[in-house]
Amino acid sequence: MPDPRTVSHRSAARRPAARRPPRLRRLPETRPGTIMRLVKAAIANAEVSLQGRGATRWRNWAGTQACSPLQIHRPRTEDEIAAIVGSAAIVGERVKAVGSGHSFNGVALTDGHLLDLRDYARLLRANRSTLRATAQSGMTLARFSRRLFPRGLAMEDMGDIAYQTVAGAIATGTHGTGLRYGCLSTQVVGMRLVTADGSVVECSTEEDPEIFRAARVGVGALGVISTATFRLEPAFNLHAREQMLPLEEVIDALDEHVDQNQHFEFFWTPGSRYAFTKRNNRTARPAQSLAAWRRFRDDVLLANLAGNAAVQVGRVAPAAGRRMRRLIPSATREDYVDRSYLVFTSERKVRFHEMEYFIPREAAREAIGRVRALIERSEQPISMPIEVRFAAADDIPLSMCEGRATCSIAVHMRRHEPYEQYFAAVEAVMRDYDGRPHWGKLHFQRASTLRPLYPQWDRFQQARARVDPNGTFSNEYLDRVLGPVRG
Ligand SMILES: Cc1cc2nc3c(=O)[nH]c(=O)nc-3n(C[C@H](O)[C@H](O)[C@H](O)COP(=O)(O)OP(=O)(O)OC[C@H]3O[C@@H](n4cnc5c(N)ncnc54)[C@H](O)[C@@H]3O)c2cc1C
Repeated sequence: MPDPRTVSHRSAARRPAARRPPRLRRLPETRPGTIMRLVKAAIANAEVSLQGRGATRWRNWAGTQACSPLQIHRPRTEDEIAAIVGSAAIVGERVKAVGSGHSFNGVALTDGHLLDLRDYARLLRANRSTLRATAQSGMTLARFSRRLFPRGLAMEDMGDIAYQTVAGAIATGTHGTGLRYGCLSTQVVGMRLVTADGSVVECSTEEDPEIFRAARVGVGALGVISTATFRLEPAFNLHAREQMLPLEEVIDALDEHVDQNQHFEFFWTPGSRYAFTKRNNRTARPAQSLAAWRRFRDDVLLANLAGNAAVQVGRVAPAAGRRMRRLIPSATREDYVDRSYLVFTSERKVRFHEMEYFIPREAAREAIGRVRALIERSEQPISMPIEVRFAAADDIPLSMCEGRATCSIAVHMRRHEPYEQYFAAVEAVMRDYDGRPHWGKLHFQRASTLRPLYPQWDRFQQARARVDPNGTFSNEYLDRVLGPVRG
């Protein structure tokens, strides 16, 4: 059966406006030549929009956020993206590009036009001598990495998973771990951005630097990222050491772990006396894949089968549940070498809610202790771990790591479990450390409480007002966390 969502794409492709490529420009500039093109596209688009309302539904990966866009488009070219955006804006309809739907909050939702970029996902260039590669924005990080590696290139750091698209990861400041490495947006050196009037802005540190600076963590508010160019490393293998250690030991030696390893993180499942630590460092040793073990570790162990079982037992026999959690796990140790992207990322099968906060690195130990105490006092069984990571400071206005070396603390709850009270209590702790929430995860903050946390907030808003003066790329979440566009 044909995917009903492709209908939109075909209708977009038929529009006369799509035939002419959008002109590259530097802002600000007027382009009288494009007005007729956009009017024609708007008329065509408005007709389809009216038919399309309510007929389509979009959900995020976790199945916890959903929307009914006016229409879902699947463009294949930058021209088509530009025509859809320009024509929607002209009739006052909103537009939202989505990636793989791996955000936990409403950041990707829209009641306007939704651009699903899965068919706009090619690697355009990869150059081993300049260590640069350019991808279309709908390409997933998994595919990007798989295509780069045989070309002798790799991303310097990645998050836990690689399902995200290039643009989705950039938009929310997605990060991995390691104090010498910034969030993934710090690896971006150039972008092509489709702005609200349907024109394309090419930006980098040299060209339109203010737009570039803001769009590196743009939360989807500055336009549709068409392509992104990354600064890369020569392809490398990582030596992974994964070890269960007593939690107290990990916390006592936290600074050593973080400073002595390129990429250090740990997970702690409430109720357990152990932490699952991961230490990844570059190595010249050849890869020796351990796929079967990794699957077990990620899907069974890390997905908290054991933790969950203890919670289930705890519901009927609290003392037995507590005993089980104290015993999880026995001494597990893993040591292997593999391609960087296979070590950085793993599969996630269990669906859940997540909140993640970014605090100054120096506050890590105290804040972890307070979260632990809060969990231990709570009567609610917490079946999923907290995850602790680190990242370098950067200068991107809305990056969660802006201006400070950072520790991130993430809390999780299974999809069908109530999370609000637990997350709100953890958020209250994080606010004592000027914690900044991940833009793609759950939190309870608003523009008025977020603004004081970001010294370059107004700079971001000025860039936003230049490229999206009428809020074409806004949605309910952005209205809450960024407020209205102010010229
Ligand atoms: C299992 C799991 C593990 C995760 N692990 C990590 C992790 O290790 N580190 C971390 O930091 N985060 C992590 N996340 C969060 C995730 O990286 C972010 O939410 C990311 O934004 C998701 O990318 P996506 O492609 O799914 O984008 P979506 O969730 O679909 O969209 C996110 C935002 O990007 C915007 N966007 C998408 N495409 C474009 C475009 N072309 N132009 C402009 N804006 C665009 C959307 O409008 C939206 O605002 C994880 C999430 C899950 C579900």
